[in-house]
Amino acid sequence: MNTFLSASEEALMEQYRIFAREKVQPVARELESHKLSLKEFLQEIGQSGCLGVTVPQEFGGQGCKFFNLALLVQAISEYEPGLGLSIAEHTAAIELIKQYGSQAQKSRYLPLLSRGDVVASLAFSEVNAGSDFEAVTTVALKDGGNYILSGKKTWVVNAELAGLLIVLAKAVASKEEQDGELMLLVVDVDSTSGLKVSADKVKLGLRSALSNDLEFDQLVVPADSKLESTVSTKEQVLFAMDIAKVIVSAAAVGLTVAALGQSVSHARSREQFGKEIGQNQAIQWKLADHGTEAEAAKLHTYRAAWSKDENPGEFRKYAAMSKWFAAKVARTHSGEALQVLGAAGISCDSDLERFYRDAKVMEICEGTSEFQKVLLVKELEI
Ligand SMILES: Cc1cc2nc3c(=O)[nH]c(=O)nc-3n(C[C@H](O)[C@H](O)[C@H](O)COP(=O)(O)OP(=O)(O)OC[C@H]3O[C@@H](n4cnc5c(N)ncnc54)[C@H](O)[C@@H]3O)c2cc1C
Repeated sequence: MNTFLSASEEALMEQYRIFAREKVQPVARELESHKLSLKEFLQEIGQSGCLGVTVPQEFGGQGCKFFNLALLVQAISEYEPGLGLSIAEHTAAIELIKQYGSQAQKSRYLPLLSRGDVVASLAFSEVNAGSDFEAVTTVALKDGGNYILSGKKTWVVNAELAGLLIVLAKAVASKEEQDGELMLLVVDVDSTSGLKVSADKVKLGLRSALSNDLEFDQLVVPADSKLESTVSTKEQVLFAMDIAKVIVSAAAVGLTVAALGQSVSHARSREQFGKEIGQNQAIQWKLADHGTEAEAAKLHTYRAAWSKDENPGEFRKYAAMSKWFAAKVARTHSGEALQVLGAAGISCDSDLERFYRDAKVMEICEGTSEFQKVLLVKELEI
């Protein structure tokens, strides 16, 4: 693997940066405060191809590498990292359907997801099943040609916008049964009743990515909605999380790069005691650490994205490494950048204030940093 971008990838990144500057920067705050509809925004960027980067051309997408999507999300997240989380969930659903969906599921959903006509969510977590997602209690009861879905989900990103939910449940044969094999159901929201969606859960950061609780009350789902596969459902869930976590890593890199830009600019322009604050070694070392670790997080993230395309056998390992590392670097250095800006940084008018809140959430969503290390113990065969 070449750890640097090729000339064509540099040119692509430049295009993505121009796109992000024109389309995302002007509305970043409105997206975070929900003054601008996320659904309409996703539909708009979907029309310009941003949501179908990895969807094959035969299904209306761009047919590009996952690596390209990571670059795009990095560029977008230099202005609004919350969009990175929303795109992460949508993309993980796309990749699940690409990898494991039937021909009918691919033909039905991929063109819609690619254009942003339908937004997708992953409904895995429950109040008592977070890191331990196999502990879910949502059940799917087989009833003739249907499943009857009952249970509650929490922290489902995009849920209130979603036309498509991928739901983790346990297959049961009777109402009395509580345990069964894990399964994923691809649920078409438009054609169902028996679904309650809570209001957006107000959270510390990544606020533009709406998150909701869901309740399935005897929701009828056709039996052919099951995501069939030769691999286990646990493997399918981990695969979806690998995808989403690399997109979140790319968002963390975008955030870290943007924070560095603001920190350097302030260090050059702010004068105290008759000289620029950047002339103090205490400030210079913060910037040197920030710059070095931003590059390391970028390399981890590029390595993970490259593995998805070129070396899938090592994807899980690099995805876990990139997620915990890039999120930690984003959290540490958005905090240090705030320190460099002083009071100017903590004002709610400052992008850095938002980035600092966003970065902390990145250490929790798509599997906590500790859970990435739990995965790495296995991947490194410790
Ligand atoms: C912003 C956001 C968006 C999310 N989006 C979605 C979504 O779209 N769909 C979805 O299904 N879920 C989503 N989630 C849920 C997310 O996947 C869980 O929050 C995450 O897996 C952690 O679960 P938990 O919060 O219940 O924490 P817990 O699992 O209860 O963990 C609490 C603490 O214990 C630690 N811990 C747990 N087990 C171990 C262990 N074995 N070893 C060491 N430490 C451990 C954790 O690292 C953490 O520090 C989202 C969460 C957030 C915050």
